[in-house]
Amino acid sequence: MVMPISSELKQNFQQNLLTWFQDQKRDLPWRRTQDPYQIWVSEVMLQQTQVDQVLPYFYRFIEAFPTVEALARASLSEVLKVWEGMGYYARARNLHTAARRIVEDYGGKIPDTFKELSQLPGIGPYTVRAILSIAYNQDYPVLDGNVIRVLCRVFHIDKDPRSGGVKKELLQLAGELLPPGKASIFNQALMELGALVCRPQRPLCLLCPLRSLCQARASGDPAALPVKTPKKTLPHYHICVGIIWKDHQVLIALRPLEGLLGGLWEFPGGKLEEGESLEACVVREVREELGIEVKVDKPFMVVKHAYTHFRITLHSFHCTYLSGDPRPLGCIDWKWVSPDDLPQYAFPKGNKKILEKLLDKSGQ
Ligand code: SF4
Repeated sequence: MVMPISSELKQNFQQNLLTWFQDQKRDLPWRRTQDPYQIWVSEVMLQQTQVDQVLPYFYRFIEAFPTVEALARASLSEVLKVWEGMGYYARARNLHTAARRIVEDYGGKIPDTFKELSQLPGIGPYTVRAILSIAYNQDYPVLDGNVIRVLCRVFHIDKDPRSGGVKKELLQLAGELLPPGKASIFNQALMELGALVCRPQRPLCLLCPLRSLCQARASGDPAALPVKTPKKTLPHYHICVGIIWKDHQVLIALRPLEGLLGGLWEFPGGKLEEGESLEACVVREVREELGIEVKVDKPFMVVKHAYTHFRITLHSFHCTYLSGDPRPLGCIDWKWVSPDDLPQYAFPKGNKKILEKLLDKSGQ
């Protein structure tokens, strides 16, 4: 699929891109450092999250955990609290576990080989290449959504880049274009061009340093590339949770560490079963999760939220505790907490909205 690139094309590509980057690059905190720890944190945060959203979290995270040792020393709940609101919590859990391993196995130095980095949790091939090239300037190409878009357009690649074979060829192409010894700046430049100029919907071709080389621009419809496969409709679930009151305190439960939203606190509850009423679902789920009996008093609020692979409607109810000693049956811990203390715990977004409204109303 990928055609051979002439050395003239390669040179023009490199020169035009690097000159543009020198003039136009954004001043971002992870660009002001060569610290592999900060570059690693930024790359993990930037997976599935836009730069503007990442910035405040990045500053907060680095302030709380300025070194890999500081991150390793922190508890998981401290890390999740700082991460709270950014979503994709497995990224935070993996950063934390990997930091502990880096301190234990590598004396706190972020490894600089493909093999060692790949063995750390949460560091997939993309992140390995990003760390090795950006932090250590090793000649590894990277392939994120921005790079894929630029390459598919400049070289008019009209096959689905999500297919394994096409991805492999794109990586090879990115590797061929990479000027030896300049991986750090080149990879960042390519990603920046995709983010700022070669945008998904309306590419700014007139401002693009690669416009004279770009085949998609010449074809007249650059936004048609890369080819997209139609989006699947996401499944939808109704989740019912209880705000369970006893002596002016509410009961919260800690989700198991593995899986979605692991290690976060939540109001107990779960998925509505077919033919079940919302209230019956709360009673059943609380019984299954904590082994206690509750009475549903009144509805509180409904929150809609979309995750990557499904959407939920979260129905919350004020409930009164009736009987039984809470036990961690479907969770790993539980606590009775005064509403004022709830903000100390990390909650997923949907639960957080419930909590905020609850604090607004200060109680039942
Ligand atoms: Fe993207 Fe247009 Fe530049 Fe081609 S000319 S790389 S389509 S911005």
